[in-house]
Amino acid sequence: MALTLRCLRCTRSFPLTLDAYLCSDCGGGGGADDAGILDVEYPPEAYKELRRRVEAGCGRADVFRWEPLLPVGGAGALTLRAGGTPLVAAPRLAAMTGVGDLLLKNETRNPTASLKDRATAVAVAIGAQLGYTDFYCASAGNAAISLAGFCANLGLGCHVFVPARTPEARLTALRAFGADLTVHPGDYDEAFAESERVGQENGWYSRNCAYNPLLVEGKKTAAFEIAEQLEWDVPDVVVAPVGDGCTLGAIGKGFRQLVDAGLTARVPRLVGVQVPAYDSVVRRFHGDTGSTAPGGDTRAVSIAVRRPRNVRRVLAEVSASGGTVVRADEGAVHEARQTLALRAGVDCEFTSAATLAAVIEHSDELDVRGKRVVLVLTGGRVDGS
Ligand SMILES: *Cc1c(COP(=O)(O)O)cnc(C)c1O
Ligand SMILES: [Zn+2]
Repeated sequence: MALTLRCLRCTRSFPLTLDAYLCSDCGGGGGADDAGILDVEYPPEAYKELRRRVEAGCGRADVFRWEPLLPVGGAGALTLRAGGTPLVAAPRLAAMTGVGDLLLKNETRNPTASLKDRATAVAVAIGAQLGYTDFYCASAGNAAISLAGFCANLGLGCHVFVPARTPEARLTALRAFGADLTVHPGDYDEAFAESERVGQENGWYSRNCAYNPLLVEGKKTAAFEIAEQLEWDVPDVVVAPVGDGCTLGAIGKGFRQLVDAGLTARVPRLVGVQVPAYDSVVRRFHGDTGSTAPGGDTRAVSIAVRRPRNVRRVLAEVSASGGTVVRADEGAVHEARQTLALRAGVDCEFTSAATLAAVIEHSDELDVRGKRVVLVLTGGRVDGS
């Protein structure tokens, strides 16, 4: 099957190769936050094959269940299995918020406790196929921990770059998994630039989902699972936190592909959530292209991104779905995490609780009353209270 890559910036198409990275025409021409991100496109046979397998009832429960719409196969990938996470009802939260049916996609149940494992599974499968022994990424913690866990399992070298504000619990997890850890004195955006410089120089394989176009394909499987868990009757609204924009962008792509495969009838409204200190995507959504987020302290450390690299992708998906991007107040995020534990029995990190905070705070604007709403609880790393 011939897959292609299309540049989200200049729209040029290239044949897909497993070592593809940024668009060679754009080559960073739009600046670090619009560097010519590529997007994988599949031929009609891939959609047909996916549908055939789904209807036949395929065996695997992890991300490689969706192999026809992935850039790499999972044959032999018996390492830590990403995906196959539960979608659970939260009736007490539904009653509290006026939402008709509130469901939690519990991504904290991944091997290293976050949705990042879905991208890592694809990264190590491709890296192994290409013969790489070393991998790198920049991260607010979860992507690095995910990569470190998978590399520990496979005996691969793992080089990670995290910002100075990374909580101690995350550094402890990275050391436990034996990662080669660089704590950059700056923020995530600076750690990202450093990781690209050092990683490319050493010829390591990139697990930077914001740049590596093949990794978003792993993340989109969260959407495939939500739809299948609801017997292909997609929810009205899907809410997820937004950092670089890969996660919600991928979820939007996943839902669109299911429509193209003839498995579902429509795409749910996508709602992205940020916090006031890191609200660049909210600003862009409202047409403000000239300013970036102020930065500073936040409990939502996993989305502390000032220059979101996949802003083009996430805004395209959000707009196509008729959705929006909102800010959740810091105090509301803190409270929402407690509420999720107390009224739904789910312990997730602050970043993920921002989804509930947004639904409570912006209930009218988001038009969620009486609707079926899925909150994507992206991670479960407990960083203290
Ligand atoms: C990385 C991450 C996000 C945001 O994902 P992006 O692809 O950067 O938008 C949200 N929640 C958690 C827990 C994460 O680790
Ligand atoms: Zn381009």
